[in-house]
Amino acid sequence: MDVQQHDEKPNLIFSLLNSKCTRCRRGDMFRDKNPYHLRKTMKMNDQCPVCGQPLEMEPGFYYGTNMISYGLAVMVCIITFFLWWILIGFSLHDSRFFWWIGINAFLLLALQPPLMRISRAVWLAFFVKYSPEWRKGEIVAAYSVNKEHQNNW
Ligand SMILES: [Zn+2]
Repeated sequence: MDVQQHDEKPNLIFSLLNSKCTRCRRGDMFRDKNPYHLRKTMKMNDQCPVCGQPLEMEPGFYYGTNMISYGLAVMVCIITFFLWWILIGFSLHDSRFFWWIGINAFLLLALQPPLMRISRAVWLAFFVKYSPEWRKGEIVAAYSVNKEHQNNW
């Protein structure tokens, strides 16, 4: 087999939605595929099981994901708002607007586990880009694996 064989680059949106490793877009970031197993929702693999990319780049690497979950939540609201507007409509004379608020809030809550995972995948994508050389190329090294240097500041 030729090592140089052409392989297809998996779609970015699809791999983010499925929280795949952002370097190879093939390995799972999370140990349990189902985000609704709530005890394990945020349990991650230390490394990508496919390409070996470290997934926790430094201690507390994923603290910044709050902003991204917030952005995703706003996006969900905008989408349900327009869907509701088109399919059901809003009126000042009945309670449709309040139904939308209630259903939207419920939906946000129900979507929380996958949204939290997607936020981490989006966050990782800022630091670890897709590599066509994922089979053999260099991984992006974790920033502070070396405990000796951790306190040298
Ligand atoms: Zn990978």
